[in-house]
Amino acid sequence: MFNLNSKKNLATISILAMLAAIFFISGIFYWLYISAQENLLNNWQNRNFHIAQEVGYYLKTPIDAISFTAIKINDMISKGATNEEISKFLIDESEIYKNVIAGNDTGIYGFCQGEYLDSSGWIPDENYIPQNRPWYKSAIHANGKIALVEPYKNLQTFTMMMSVSQLLNDKKSVISMDIYLGEVQKIIEKILSENEIVEMAIVMNNNGVVVAHSDIEEIGRKYINDKTNTFGRRLTEKMSENNQKIFQISNDNKKFLAFVENASNQWNMVLLLNEEKLFRSLQYIYIFSALTLVIVLGGIFAGFYFTNRKILENEKLSREIQAVADIYAAMAKIDLETDSIKLLRSNKNLDNLLGGDLKNYSKRIITIMKKYSADQSRNLLVNFINPATMQERLAEINSISHEFLNHEDHWIRVRFIVVERDENKKIKNFILAFESIDEDRKHQEKLREMSEMDAMTKIRNRGSGEALVRNKMAEGMRGMFCLLDADKFKSINDNYGHAVGDKVIIEIANCLKKTFRDTDIFFRLGGDEFAVYADEVTDEETGKNIFERFFHNLDKIEIPELGERKICVSVGGTFYPADKNDSFENLYKRADSGLYESKKILGNYISFNYDE
Ligand code: GH3
Ligand code: MG
Repeated sequence: MFNLNSKKNLATISILAMLAAIFFISGIFYWLYISAQENLLNNWQNRNFHIAQEVGYYLKTPIDAISFTAIKINDMISKGATNEEISKFLIDESEIYKNVIAGNDTGIYGFCQGEYLDSSGWIPDENYIPQNRPWYKSAIHANGKIALVEPYKNLQTFTMMMSVSQLLNDKKSVISMDIYLGEVQKIIEKILSENEIVEMAIVMNNNGVVVAHSDIEEIGRKYINDKTNTFGRRLTEKMSENNQKIFQISNDNKKFLAFVENASNQWNMVLLLNEEKLFRSLQYIYIFSALTLVIVLGGIFAGFYFTNRKILENEKLSREIQAVADIYAAMAKIDLETDSIKLLRSNKNLDNLLGGDLKNYSKRIITIMKKYSADQSRNLLVNFINPATMQERLAEINSISHEFLNHEDHWIRVRFIVVERDENKKIKNFILAFESIDEDRKHQEKLREMSEMDAMTKIRNRGSGEALVRNKMAEGMRGMFCLLDADKFKSINDNYGHAVGDKVIIEIANCLKKTFRDTDIFFRLGGDEFAVYADEVTDEETGKNIFERFFHNLDKIEIPELGERKICVSVGGTFYPADKNDSFENLYKRADSGLYESKKILGNYISFNYDE
């Protein structure tokens, strides 16, 4: 299963989150950039469209003027009007258009019914042949449609003049009007002065002739196939390529974005924007996206760093808790509010007893503990575990424990550890922990045994033996008490060495073990002296019989170093109780007197004594 608490998974998630953040933020900002760019381009295209309309409108008036005038004159000619009548009409018309069209000084003129007519009153010289003039030729070429004659530059004003002409119905007569293009130039110059981004504005006709230009030096040039102006040539080439309305073009290491819009059927409005300046505003989107990325990635990294640190801390803590928990064989958290059990650490014995039902703690725990305990431990354990008195017992302290033998005769320590109390100090939940202390117990047992044992002979020492005898006496247990002392032991030491003396002492102890019952008490007093308390032996005859067995066992001792030499022990015996006030001290004195008597007799011997 996927675990967020694992460092490896956390790192994976963080890296994935960072990649996702990079992906999404880049995506969003790319989309923003693209739409902002599109918006910007649309905006300028729109502006160029309006400029083109303005230019087109300026052109439209003379075109209309020529169209209307042509209709009227065609009508007049068809009705047989004379050139005189037509001239008069042209003068009237010109007067009207003079006010409408700025810079229209020449008025309407034309070649009508074989004669040159001029509303301004200009009289051409003899060399002037109207049929050879561009305005006439263009009208013939346009064949009844409006002809916009190639503009020409007025060298005094650097502005352009242009003729608008139309062939009449008789296919010979043409009327024409000259318009001054300074107005178009004004429109262009206004755009340039208003917009820093606009580097160049050009009005060109379809033949690539520059009608108006922000650089007046360029006015009148013909850009198509212009060998001297590569920029102009490239510009017209790009314009004709797929009729592009927006394209990039560079000049003198400067990058431009060109916007092209039709001003009329025959003119184009071209705006050239400084690309770098145009897109400068978009750079903020880059900066913004980079900043956002840095912040988000930083946030993710910080999140990773702090969570990772938290995990490390938690791991350390859980290791520490685990180290403590390892002491316990089983652990359960008891919630007294819900009366439920939550196993923190399982133990097969206890789990079986709990039987999977982790509810009704206070009712079930007594039953469970009764099953879990050995007979002799049951009552005390039930008292300890009793939920009814637990609050009271743990009122002032946070932990209590109790040791007991379980159903498998293992020593167990059970402990309550308070976890949480309410505002009235009442326990809300606590931990119930079971610790196996069998090993401890065995160890303690060993230590106790060692302290009670005579190291050399492995039978009880004087202290523990005497204590046991006193216990028996206190319990009122009747019996025989004897003191034993090896005969001529010093000479064994002297003749065979101390080590052989030790062997003799050990063998005497072994004979005691063989001779006496487990319930009897025999112990070494020290040196070659021993003592015995035999339960329920109350007469000399029984006592003597027992010691016959003992002496018989002594005879069988084989210590090679001793050769034929036999070990003999003198014994002094007495019985308990002698009277109501009998004491250990008196018992000892009586037996000692018996021993004294036995020493007088050679070989193994027992004497009983009843007086102190
Ligand atoms: P008696 O027949 O009167 O008892 O004479 P005995 O030589 O046995 O004299 P006694 O019982 O007074 O001497 C006991 C001797 O045992 C004294 C001591 O040197 C020796 N002894 C005491 N403890 C040890 C021991 O642990 N090992 C050995 N080898 N000798 C011991
Ligand atoms: Mg002795």
